[in-house]
Amino acid sequence: MDLHVGKARATAAEQQAVDAVLGPPASGWEGGERRAGVDGHAATGGHLSRQRRHLLLPALQAAQARRGFISEGALNYICLRLTVPPAEAYGVATFYSLLSLAPRPPVVAHVCDDIACRLSGAEALCAELTRTLGPAGGEGRATWLRSPCLGQCERAPAVLVTRAGERPLETALGPATGAQVLAALADGPARAAVPSVRLPQFGDPGLRLLRRIGRVDPTSCDDYRAHGGYAALRRAIELGPEGVIREVLDSRLVGRGGAAFPTGRKWEAVSRAVVRPHYLVCNADESEPGTFKDRVLMEEDPFAVLEAMTIAGYATGCEIAYLYVRGEYPLAAERLQGAILEARGRGLLGQDVMGHGFRFEVEVRRGAGAYICGEETALFNSIEGFRGEPRNKPPFPTQAGLFGKPTVVNNVETLANVLEVLREGGPAFASVGTAASTGTKLFCLSGHVKRPGLYEVPFGTTLRALLDLAGGVAGGRALRTVLLGGAAGAFVTPAELDVPLTFEGTRAIGASLGSGVVLALDDTTDLWDIVRRIAAFFRDESCGQCVPCRVGTVRQEELLARLARGGAARPASEELLLLSEIGQAMRDASICGLGQTASAAVQSALAKLGLIEGGRT
Ligand code: SF4
Repeated sequence: MDLHVGKARATAAEQQAVDAVLGPPASGWEGGERRAGVDGHAATGGHLSRQRRHLLLPALQAAQARRGFISEGALNYICLRLTVPPAEAYGVATFYSLLSLAPRPPVVAHVCDDIACRLSGAEALCAELTRTLGPAGGEGRATWLRSPCLGQCERAPAVLVTRAGERPLETALGPATGAQVLAALADGPARAAVPSVRLPQFGDPGLRLLRRIGRVDPTSCDDYRAHGGYAALRRAIELGPEGVIREVLDSRLVGRGGAAFPTGRKWEAVSRAVVRPHYLVCNADESEPGTFKDRVLMEEDPFAVLEAMTIAGYATGCEIAYLYVRGEYPLAAERLQGAILEARGRGLLGQDVMGHGFRFEVEVRRGAGAYICGEETALFNSIEGFRGEPRNKPPFPTQAGLFGKPTVVNNVETLANVLEVLREGGPAFASVGTAASTGTKLFCLSGHVKRPGLYEVPFGTTLRALLDLAGGVAGGRALRTVLLGGAAGAFVTPAELDVPLTFEGTRAIGASLGSGVVLALDDTTDLWDIVRRIAAFFRDESCGQCVPCRVGTVRQEELLARLARGGAARPASEELLLLSEIGQAMRDASICGLGQTASAAVQSALAKLGLIEGGRT
């Protein structure tokens, strides 16, 4: 393929950063002069380099981390190295919010202004930064930007500071003050800070998934093993692949990412697929506003994630796994990388896992700021080096997933449950919770609760009991509502607090568990502000591939702005009807779950919270 790139050339530092990911150019087809038929590799080099398209996003991230933005020269160099047409590389680079093609200062504070952080003073923090540094996105050595949810809702308001350079660094601040942000911007974060994880239930003997957190050194494989680590993998090997799948089927474990698909059935389908190779993908791209459970598991119990992935790979015949971690989780990525190295060194990953003759490798890939990449097929496209746009289904991932091969996709919490299934046995696991929702569930409590943080309770616990566990509403205020399931979830009223937290129980009141978000809002909350932030979130995060979602999310936000302002040209009843029709069109005609759920929280707020009657219209 003949590539036509512009004249701009990468600096030596940019080339070095990209080469650190891709390796030095092996032929004239990889970044050097195109001399077809002259050098020995020319005839086949183009094809080989195109096969490495899956390294496009890591290469773009390396260029971004070196200079703080992807210069035209760096983009050209990456295109030449991977034989990717510049227009396609441009399309990928512009898809992700953490990447920038426009010059940007090397030090950036990404300030979360999403729902949980708004409740904890994010707007005041933004106003302070505007006063001291000027508007978001300014020039100079350092700047600040608004960001959607950073997944640190238990320590809101949250900030992620990134520093580009020879030794790029990312660090999370939270709860962040203006002074802390300014100090981090002035000096650059000196060292990646390790914020402490608050586990309000620490010491509770009923904990299963969270029982090691705070007790085990997350950087030590020995410590993990001393606390029972790798016993589940040993049991899996005793049972054999079919025995493992039998246990998972018996446990009736369903996915914890929101779709609640039976895990055992997914594993069974891939294990029986004749097409090879099989791939395993751990979806660690949790980006639902209000969600941080997988982050805590990855940061504080990374070997458990790896052990569970190894079991999944063993059972389903996958030798290669990708762990796709959200770009906003630097500590999780660092800990997982460290755990992979250690596990490989001890024969717990690699060519001959535990000396039992099966091969299993895990590679960490980082997202770059795109909510939609949590959708499984969008995630495949992202790993493969394309824009993270969802694919039509069927074919389903178990038939044709990553690189078109049978693929198991599980999220982090689902995998963590597999260790419990093997520890206790499938039937014992299924005896906890309810018949249709077995085991325990992690919930992310944030907003106006006394003790925000990550909680684990058996399925069937009521929402009221869970809020009580978190100390109830902070400051003795009255509860106005709870956003259950995140931005794609629904609002629940105080009269509905006795709903059992199960898939079937929440469905019965028109809500969903989603990814386990429980965001409490007291009676001082400006609900219009929250609802409009949710609408703005979907407007920003729609991948734009299909019309109902691309246009509907924009119209929904505009309509809410009119309603909130009051005095619209049309009566409120007509505006509400229009809003409802937009929601219906998005639900019925969008390709993926984002468009299908983009109106859920908005509609529930309007239906249940009396925004119009008591509002500004
Ligand atoms: Fe993209 Fe929205 Fe369509 Fe999903 S529904 S594919 S996010 S435009």
